[in-house]
Parts: sequence; structure tokens; C-alpha cells
Amino acid sequence: MGETLKRKLVVSSTRPPDLENRPTNDTLGWDKDSAKGELAKVIGEMAFIQHRLLAEAKQSLLIVLQGRDASGKDGLVRHVMTGMNPAGVRVVNFKVPAGVERMHDYLWRVHAACPARGEVGVWNRSHYEDILVPRVKNLVSEDVWTRRYRHVRDFEQMLVDEGTTILKFYLHVSHEVQRQRLQKRVDNPESAWKHDPSDLSDRELWPKYSEAYTDVLAQTSRPAVPWFVVPADFKWVRDLAVAKIVLETLRTMNPQLPKPDKSMKGIVVV
Ligand code: AMP
Ligand code: MG
Repeated sequence: MGETLKRKLVVSSTRPPDLENRPTNDTLGWDKDSAKGELAKVIGEMAFIQHRLLAEAKQSLLIVLQGRDASGKDGLVRHVMTGMNPAGVRVVNFKVPAGVERMHDYLWRVHAACPARGEVGVWNRSHYEDILVPRVKNLVSEDVWTRRYRHVRDFEQMLVDEGTTILKFYLHVSHEVQRQRLQKRVDNPESAWKHDPSDLSDRELWPKYSEAYTDVLAQTSRPAVPWFVVPADFKWVRDLAVAKIVLETLRTMNPQLPKPDKSMKGIVVV
């Protein structure tokens, strides 16, 4: 089940990003009524395997979430990742680099945030911002952001070689759905705090971001470190799609509980 979904959403050499033509409102053949129960089941199994991952303490899973403002990165973390034991999950929100972060290379803070053995890392934005933002806003010359593709590919490959499985999700929303969500955000006193003036200036740069994202996905999706384009106009589709792919991946990682020490046999606790 998860394998077919992965093939459908992945970016590969035979399946380019093609964001213009990938639907944002696909329901992937699912219906909303049964999706809720299905998500609960998927999250339950995710939690079961994550328990083993943490106990095994040999490999890690890194989930990278990218997408425009209001594409649902925060909602996804809240609806899907909270099903796992928080003792083994590390959620990191990457913001505009500040203070000491600006005194180092761009991967410094990123490497420090990587999940330890046994942990699941969830990144709300990531090192990909260091390619997208400087490019779209003309902050550095083209050769500076283009060479970062090479850095990022090598960095991710190193993490894979050392025991981290990486999944990268681009949450794909339409221009109109972003408008509705940003409007709702400012109109609702419960969410108005989330509004950032940069959301509006970034929205004006929509075509430039489309171009930048298309390039990022094409340049940095590889079989061992894939990007998935997740239709994200419907929150329930977004959540279920990501949860299913995470579950499928955890199954493949197949973490095992450590074997009890032989000397424990026959111990009587008094
Ligand atoms: P949000 O995720 O909406 O809370 O906002 C975080 C903001 O930080 C977004 O506008 C990102 O584009 C920005 N950001 C995150 N990482 C970087 C980075 N490495 N370089 C530039 N801007 C970044
Ligand atoms: Mg924002």
C-alpha cells in the first residue's frame, strides 16, 4: 500500500517535480469519512514501531517538511507526529538564522539538530531554506546557492551512510488555498499571532518560489534520499499521505528490541 503511494508521489529522474501539473487537490482515491479512522490506525502502528526504534537505538529517521506559508507543516506535526512517544521525537523549527548561527556555515545548526540513534527528527523547514531564500531574494550570487546542491547531496548521503533514513516532503498547496488560509489566519483572533508580514511578501514571490522549488526537488531527490510532493489543499489527504509513507518506511527500517542479556534468565525480583 505504502509502496504504491511512494511511487505516485516521489520525485525521480523518470518522474520530475513538474509542480505546475501535479495536482494540489488530489484525494489519492481516498474518501474523507474513512480517512480519519485510517489515520488513527496508521499512527497507532507508527507509534508501535517507533517504540522499537528507540529501544534498538541503532538507526534514526529524519523527516524533512518543506512548503510555502500555510501549506500545513505545523498542522502535520500536530496531527501526525504527536502520535509517537515524544521521548524519542525531536521537532525542530528552522527560522531565519540569527546570532551565533550567522557566525557559522549554513549546515552547522542543521547538523547539530540531526536525530540521534533511536530518534525520529522532524524538521519544520530545513537546510533547503538556505538554497531557496537566498536565490529568491537575491541575497547571494548564483554560484553560491547552486554549489549548495552539491553540499546538501553529500551531507545527506553521509547521514544515510551513518544510519539515518531520510524522507523529504514538499507540501503542495495552490495559490488560492494559500490565500484562503492566510486570510483566515489574520481574521481569527486565535491564529492572528501566526501572521508574519513576510508571508505576504513571500506570496508576491510565488512564481520565483515555484521555480526555486522545482529546481531544488529535481536536484536533490535521489533513490536513497527521496522527495515526495504531497497534495496539500486537503489537510486530511496531506496527513494521511505523509503518515502512510512514514509508516511504510518505519516498517522497512524494521527496528528490533534488544535481546535480553542471558544472565537475566531466572532472575527473581523480590
Ligand atoms: P515560519 O516557518 O513561517 O514560522 O517562518 C520561518 C521563516 O524563516 C520563513 O520565512 C523562512 O523562509 C525563514 N527561514 C528559515 N530558515 C531560513 C534560512 N536558512 N535562511 C533564510 N530564511 C530562513
Ligand atoms: Mg511564516
